[in-house]
Order: sequence, then structure tokens, then C-alpha cells
Amino acid sequence: MGFESIMAIYIVLLGPPGAGKGTQAKIISEKMFLPHISSGEIFRENLSKKTELGNLARKYINRGELVPDDITTGMIKKRLSRDDCRNGALLDGFPRTVSQANSFDEFLAIDHKKVNVVPYIKVSDEILIERLTGRWTCPVCGHVYHEKFNPPQKPGICDFDGSDLYQRDDDKLETVQNRIRVYINQTQPLIDYYRNKGVLVEINGENNIQMVTEELLTAIQERIA
Ligand code: ADP
Ligand code: AMP
Repeated sequence: MGFESIMAIYIVLLGPPGAGKGTQAKIISEKMFLPHISSGEIFRENLSKKTELGNLARKYINRGELVPDDITTGMIKKRLSRDDCRNGALLDGFPRTVSQANSFDEFLAIDHKKVNVVPYIKVSDEILIERLTGRWTCPVCGHVYHEKFNPPQKPGICDFDGSDLYQRDDDKLETVQNRIRVYINQTQPLIDYYRNKGVLVEINGENNIQMVTEELLTAIQERIA
């Protein structure tokens, strides 16, 4: 086993849409010097550039359904093979099915690596709906805001790069409700999957952003020390 495989750290942020995975991933990836890999963000970049991958994924994303496993897993493996991931990665939104989790474990095992810790960010459904329908996203840096809970300094403008913020098409109430259903049916089984592997740690996602960050950092540091 090489030095790099001992040092590599893989963190999977698990939780329903709107739990705060992207918000926390941006903060934690900077603090831990780990690349933030968001499957949703990679899909959205491909949608806006109208690539072949984007065109394949569009209909699923617009309906709030999952993009098929083979497409998603292939995309993530390619991203994780890039040099910036040699020390590991912080994953947000992947895996989302047991089949994706199995493929991911097999992929890591080739280099004697594994998923080290899976913080499960728990938030009730009513709060999720309020968070998602008030979410504003920066199209350039991907930073997320909330009109009430985490507003930008100037309404509608990204604090970091001055871009005009937008509301995601899949954050409409009807699509949000479907995404929560899809999460319950297809992603929730991952809670037991990772609990059985001894890497799951529950985080109260209903606290404010700073408190969630502190709980996450403590939990991660305890598990990778
Ligand atoms: P996810 O990536 O899990 O879908 P996001 O990080 O995009 O979730 O957060 C969804 C929305 O909730 C965003 O508008 C974000 O600003 C807001 N948000 C995130 N964490 C919190 C929190 N702890 N309290 C209140 N609002 C939050
Ligand atoms: P997110 O940005 O994580 O909320 O993801 C937005 C949308 O992208 C989801 O509703 C899915 O349609 C698609 N998507 C993101 N990650 C995955 C994944 N791991 N598997 C399948 N579809 C995904």
C-alpha cells in the first residue's frame, strides 16, 4: 500500500435535498484542503454547456428524478481520477443509491482506499421545503444562499464574484416534493449501508449553519484522527 493510499480521505455528505450538504461542503473542503465534488454541480455545468452528458441528464434533473447509475458513476469516477483528488475528496450528492455506493467502494478498493466517514445531516421535511424554495445559487462559483436564512449582502448578487444569482428550475415546489420522495425511496437505504460499515455519524442539520459546521468538523476529526 503506497503512502498516498494511507493518507487519502474520502468523506461522503449524506442527507436529503436541502439538508445543507453543498453549504457545508464549501466550508469544510476549504478548511480540510479537500476538493468538493458535487454530482449535482457537475450535471448543472454540463446542462448549461449543453454537452452530451448534460443533454442525457436534463430530463431526469428537470423531473427531480435520479440520473441513471451508470451515467452518474462514470462521471464521478472520471472526476475522482483527476490529480487534485490524490489525497481524497469531499463528496456531496454522490452516492445516492446502493448500487452507486457499491461501485464507489469497488473503485476505491482498487487503490486500497475506502470511505472514511459519512456525516448524515438530518433535517425534517417541512424545513427542507422552506430551504429549497428560498434557495438562490451563484451560476459562476456555485455558492448557495437563502433569502431568509443566509442572504447575500446585496439581494440577488453573489458576495464572492458579483454574479447575478438564480433560482434552480428543480427548486420549484412540485419538483422539490418529488426530489424528497426520490430521496426517501432510493437514497435513504444508504443510511443503513454506511451504518453497517461503521462510518455513519448523525449530525443535527436543523441548527444554524455555523453550528452545523462545528458539529461536522468535530465528528470528522474524531473519525479520521
Ligand atoms: P443541499 O446541498 O443539501 O441540497 P444546500 O446547502 O444547497 O442543501 O442548502 C439548501 C438551502 O438551505 C440553501 O438556500 C442554504 O442557504 C440553506 N441552508 C443550508 N444550511 C442551512 C442551515 N443550517 N440553516 C438554515 N438554512 C440553511
Ligand atoms: P443536487 O445538486 O445534489 O440537488 O442534484 C440535482 C439533481 O442532479 C438531482 O435531483 C438528480 O437529478 C441529479 N443528481 C445529482 N447527483 C446524482 C446522483 N448521485 N445520482 C443520480 N442523479 C444525481
